[in-house]
Amino acid sequence: MAEIEREAMDVDVVIVGAGPAGLSAAIRLKQLDEELNVVVLEKGSEVGAHILSGAVFDTSGLDALIPDWKDKDAPVKTQVTADEFTMLSEKAGINIPLWPMPPLMSNHGTYIVSMGQVARWLAEQAEALGVEIYPGMACSELIFDDAGNVKGVVAGEFGKQADGTPGPAYEPGMELHGKYVFLAEGVRGSLAKQVMSKFQLCKDRELQKFGVGMKEIWEIAPDKHEEGKVTHTMGWPLGKNASGGGFAYHAEGGQLFLGMVIHLNYQNPYLQPYMEFQRMKHHPKIAALLEGGKRVAYGARAVSAGGWQSMPKAAFPGGALLGDSVGVLNYARIKGNHNAMHSGIAAAEAAAAAIKAGRAGDVLEDYETELRAGPVARDLKPVRNVKPLVTKLGLYLGLMFAGFDMWMNTLFGFSLFGTMGHRKSDAAATGKAKDYPKIDYPKPDGKLSFDRLTNVSFSATNHEESQPCHLQLKDPDIPVKLNLPEYAEPAQHYCPAGVYEVLEENDGPVFRINFQNCVHCKTCDIKDPSQNITWTVPQGGDGPNYGNM
Ligand SMILES: Cc1cc2nc3c(=O)[nH]c(=O)nc-3n(C[C@H](O)[C@H](O)[C@H](O)COP(=O)(O)OP(=O)(O)OC[C@H]3O[C@@H](n4cnc5c(N)ncnc54)[C@H](O)[C@@H]3O)c2cc1C
Repeated sequence: MAEIEREAMDVDVVIVGAGPAGLSAAIRLKQLDEELNVVVLEKGSEVGAHILSGAVFDTSGLDALIPDWKDKDAPVKTQVTADEFTMLSEKAGINIPLWPMPPLMSNHGTYIVSMGQVARWLAEQAEALGVEIYPGMACSELIFDDAGNVKGVVAGEFGKQADGTPGPAYEPGMELHGKYVFLAEGVRGSLAKQVMSKFQLCKDRELQKFGVGMKEIWEIAPDKHEEGKVTHTMGWPLGKNASGGGFAYHAEGGQLFLGMVIHLNYQNPYLQPYMEFQRMKHHPKIAALLEGGKRVAYGARAVSAGGWQSMPKAAFPGGALLGDSVGVLNYARIKGNHNAMHSGIAAAEAAAAAIKAGRAGDVLEDYETELRAGPVARDLKPVRNVKPLVTKLGLYLGLMFAGFDMWMNTLFGFSLFGTMGHRKSDAAATGKAKDYPKIDYPKPDGKLSFDRLTNVSFSATNHEESQPCHLQLKDPDIPVKLNLPEYAEPAQHYCPAGVYEVLEENDGPVFRINFQNCVHCKTCDIKDPSQNITWTVPQGGDGPNYGNM
């Protein structure tokens, strides 16, 4: 194929991803120097279209970025008024008292928000400062300078045919070059993954760990809705099969944000995170809340869970990783938005100072230092052993030790356990099918629980079918020849959007990828035991279209 010619545009800072991290960076850059040219590129059809979060929102990042956010009518209105932690058994649930928990676990002063709406509002603030935001522009490639430093990205390539060649409506997109390139792609960023590998950013760090989070929005009966109430659950239906838990946040407008996060280090390859979530809704306590209500939206997204010890080096030659692309989610608090914003602010401050000093394309070491010493560090360090302790000791004992460890960190600033490691990658944790029982999930009833494809239609997901499949197999034979006999091809089980199927045809089993259904959660890129699936970015504007997530 002839080399593709593209127009190039030079700006000061190129930001990939209009989530809380990318938009905070853009805003801070313009606050520091209104002359800077800042461009934000977003693959969703509009800002917020691909944002999925709980979300109980700790406003510390927003306070630092836009202290008068209340006067600016930020969509951050519903203060948390009741906070509950319930341990579920199959038929009952007991509320665990919250007073023994260290203060860092408290939701006092936090808000229940739609992060999609917050992102749209942040985009308005950014545009008012002169930031250029281009939604529908997927960044598909990195561009390097002669010295091998990142100097830009290719964005907005459209109209490739299924075989990868340009179709009749082909648009080559353009090159955006920046003095610094910020990758704020969220968890398991496809470009972030490439820079981590090229610049060995994960060297001497612990493995990253992940979970898959699924969320439905329900409109529930007014007499059951308690605006401001937050409930977290643990226990049933996961039991010993997996760790994770559920959440139910009573948001404004009679809505309930209901979801579940399941950690991807589970072993049984038959486990279906999606069906565990559906099953959770049949618990008497949750079913009572939902009866008479209706589900209005669905989506799924991975979360990073490795925490402090798993964060790669964030600064690389020519740019930086921001937000969940560098793994800033606080596992114990199930919160990442505030840290995403803090990381965006810190990266912006380092880049603005560097540009002012006449630098470009080097390593923003000041960002690295701030990330390892500033608000993100203060949030993540005290909880760094929670995940390893729960993995090692199991839910109940693990939580007891984790509570003790968080108190030690809070009161004395150190841990008796030091900094614990994560043993295996989530892919490697997957066990062999022969060693685990099949799990017989009840059929969804269509009232409280739904099959995957019906639910995917509530994410308004759409992909142009004529483009190349963005879920690439390194070896097309592995699913049927290795994964199926060894692991019951877990892609058909772990994908929360029903993208992967194993079909029995005359010549034997066939692995099919329905990429059109992909909600961009990235679970396949993380959990495939053979690490054979690479999630690449489809053309811009495709994917879910979340309204209020
Ligand atoms: C179910 C669930 C519940 C959660 N609950 C909470 C909670 O209650 N509180 C909390 O604080 N946090 C919560 N989180 C975590 C929180 O959502 C994340 O920490 C946060 O979204 C990270 O922000 P980010 O800006 O780094 O990434 P994201 O919010 O993921 O934004 C990344 C953006 O980059 C875009 N993008 C990615 N790749 C490209 C590309 N190549 N080209 C162009 N655009 C691209 C994406 O479309 C997206 O818009 C939850 C997460 C999940 C999944």
